[in-house]
Amino acid sequence: MTTPFPIRPRLLLGPGPSPVADRVLEALSRPTVGHLDPQFLAVMDDVNERLRRTFGTSNALTFPVSGTGSAAQEAALANVVEPGDKVVIGVNGVFGGRLAEMARRMGCDVVTVEEEWGRVFSPDRLIEVLGRHPDARVLAVVHAETSTGAWQPLEDLGTYVSGTDTLFLVDTVTSLGGVPVEVDRNRIDVAYSGTQKCLGVPPGLAPLTFSHRAMARIRSRRQPCQSWYLDAALLAAYVGEGSERRYHHTAPINMMYALHEGLVAVEEEGLEARYGRHLDVGRRLQAELVERGFELFAQEGHRLPQLTAAALPGGRDEAPLRRALLDRFDIEVGGGLGPAKGRIWRVGLMGAGATHENVDRLLAAIDELLD
Ligand SMILES: *Cc1c(COP(=O)(O)O)cnc(C)c1O
Repeated sequence: MTTPFPIRPRLLLGPGPSPVADRVLEALSRPTVGHLDPQFLAVMDDVNERLRRTFGTSNALTFPVSGTGSAAQEAALANVVEPGDKVVIGVNGVFGGRLAEMARRMGCDVVTVEEEWGRVFSPDRLIEVLGRHPDARVLAVVHAETSTGAWQPLEDLGTYVSGTDTLFLVDTVTSLGGVPVEVDRNRIDVAYSGTQKCLGVPPGLAPLTFSHRAMARIRSRRQPCQSWYLDAALLAAYVGEGSERRYHHTAPINMMYALHEGLVAVEEEGLEARYGRHLDVGRRLQAELVERGFELFAQEGHRLPQLTAAALPGGRDEAPLRRALLDRFDIEVGGGLGPAKGRIWRVGLMGAGATHENVDRLLAAIDELLD
């Protein structure tokens, strides 16, 4: 019998998953217990409480969906829309496009607002579109567009939308734990994330939070959520503190331990310090890449520190160099998507991966490869 193991470790500097600290991997191997065991429920309650602090919210319904970021993305939308509802979605990369595709499949009347990949939306432009569609049930944008490295400002949008009947839905998969999300301060009604980006936990759970306004929308639905598995009303009876804890599905017990440990690490470091670390390390990488002839893809002034998209010097074909980086140096970076395919790398410095030593290691490898 042959076996695909052992797995060779890699330095994960792509768009996710990000490097996982030993303490998080160790947490995964704690004893598996039942999903209604009081010991496990205590872990889940503590995870939810820590997620509230990381999201910057007091929202009661805040919990990790059993699934990856895309599952929470689907849950976020499916719970607050019904067939025929109008939704306005900003599309400036892959993940805005995915939101629009999901909304279409849910039978929504989807109004997409397009922006060139790499650029962010001016809040005024989206507000102007909403002014023409006052019946929109949701405005959705991506905070950190992992396909381009663009960092969308949220504050003005949240302020505007909170004065209307439209809900503000934000993809924070690549921002949570890396840059401030501040759900309550930014008046976000629905936010979702993933464990495997700036939280530094393996893929498999996906934080999700609903505001009072979103909960009111869910309670006044004319028909139940189209997805049984992702129905927030059913999930609340399992994940909600003080509820009777009815069985809905079997939570990924060990992943919950891992997420708990990841969130403990976030709070030990402190959110401000963590944002500072991502900013320092990301800005340094960006400056060093420019010095080597790389061209940064995202709009100046709106570049994420934790995800840098950059075209290779002299228009070089990226794929063979990316493969050499993996084979010769055990370093993973991502390739380009959509219009940027073939030309750019996407370098993630997320969670435990956001260190100056990792930047040093990557730059040394790049210098050897491009020599
Ligand atoms: C990674 C990502 C997702 C999807 O998450 P998966 O864990 O891959 O399902 C959604 N939105 C953004 C912005 C992402 O970066």
